Amino acid sequence: MEPTPQTSHGDGDHERFAHYVQKDKIMASALDGTPVVALCGKVWVPGRDPKKYPVCPMCKEIYESMGAGGDDGKGKGGDK
Ligand SMILES: [Zn+2]
Repeated sequence: MEPTPQTSHGDGDHERFAHYVQKDKIMASALDGTPVVALCGKVWVPGRDPKKYPVCPMCKEIYESMGAGGDDGKGKGGDK
């Protein structure tokens, strides 16, 4: 998963963000031009320059909720 810019044209501010997409999907898209689906639900064909764009806030929030903070290892020993 990594921030991925979109270069298609259409709907405003989302065009200016790099959205989080699974890396293998990006690879597949680079090979055959199939659209990818971002964490926030955005569908597009990625461009090549993720560094130029700020990360989509919605994708970032979802990504962080999946990774950091989701499973912090506390509470082992069982309160369930
Ligand atoms: Zn997004």
